[in-house]
Amino acid sequence: ATASARRDAYRPAVTRDGHRVEVVANIGTAADATRAVDAGAEGVGLLRTEFLFLKRDTPPTEDEQTEALLAMVRALNGLPLVVRTLDIGGDKDVPYLSLPREDNPFLGVRGVRLCLAQPELFNPQLRAIVRAAREAPEGAVKVMFPMVATIEELRDARAALERVRAELHGPPIDCGIMIEVPSAAVMADVFAREAAFLSIGTNDLTQYVLAMDRLHPALTRHADGLHPAVLRLIDQIVQAAHAHGRWVGVCGNLAAERAAAPILVGLGVDELSVSPPAVPELKAQVRDMSLESARALARRALACATAAEVRALS
Ligand code: PEP
Ligand code: MG
Repeated sequence: ATASARRDAYRPAVTRDGHRVEVVANIGTAADATRAVDAGAEGVGLLRTEFLFLKRDTPPTEDEQTEALLAMVRALNGLPLVVRTLDIGGDKDVPYLSLPREDNPFLGVRGVRLCLAQPELFNPQLRAIVRAAREAPEGAVKVMFPMVATIEELRDARAALERVRAELHGPPIDCGIMIEVPSAAVMADVFAREAAFLSIGTNDLTQYVLAMDRLHPALTRHADGLHPAVLRLIDQIVQAAHAHGRWVGVCGNLAAERAAAPILVGLGVDELSVSPPAVPELKAQVRDMSLESARALARRALACATAAEVRALS
């Protein structure tokens, strides 16, 4: 790309009427972090740390995890890195951890629940995150807990992080949560008091709100993140977060959908996190929209009865 095209990629995404939307990337590896920066991402909104645990026979050590995070920190050169703690269970299996078989893995000991139940898995990861944060520009590394359903889980997970931070004399670290369980969406005002930010995982939120397995071949067409039930929750989450001065992101696949971006922006979502290749087009789309018309579109979407009606709006 020419120098001017590259400069263009790095400009923030601002709507025609001057509203800035943060466009960041979902990544799994340091190579992805480089791809994200090259694509013009303003940081990483979701690091799926599960990837560090895949394609091997034993969990990565604390040192290995630290090295992997530091490689990402270096690639990002000061841009924010939201590190999601291990999100295993449901559709995400790590065979060598030999977790007990469950009748309902999507409703089982998964995500942050699993980490809270297994400190020997959680603590090395938290230590690696704190060690990476120590080497990064202040505030660049943030922590995000997945699959949080109750405020106690946030408190317990944060307490674990704080213990590790005290041991390692780490810097303060912003602590946010994924909103991907209906209870967390409904209680967003309670979570917004205690979490630094909320990032909406529309893949799981849609699955749990509609009670449709996200991978079920007969249901994928119907498990639509643009269903008004999901949009009404997103609306509530954004309002609750903003009332407490917190920012809200969307890091599920919905954020990368052309039909969804203006609705999410219109609902007041501050940050959209998408795969690196989707960044340039999303930025271009934001630059091409106006907040005023996005808000009008969002209001009409909230009044729809079906996902098909929402999709027919744009
Ligand atoms: C989500 O659930 O929307 C999400 C971003 O997390 P994952 O796809 O990793 O479950
Ligand atoms: Mg999820």
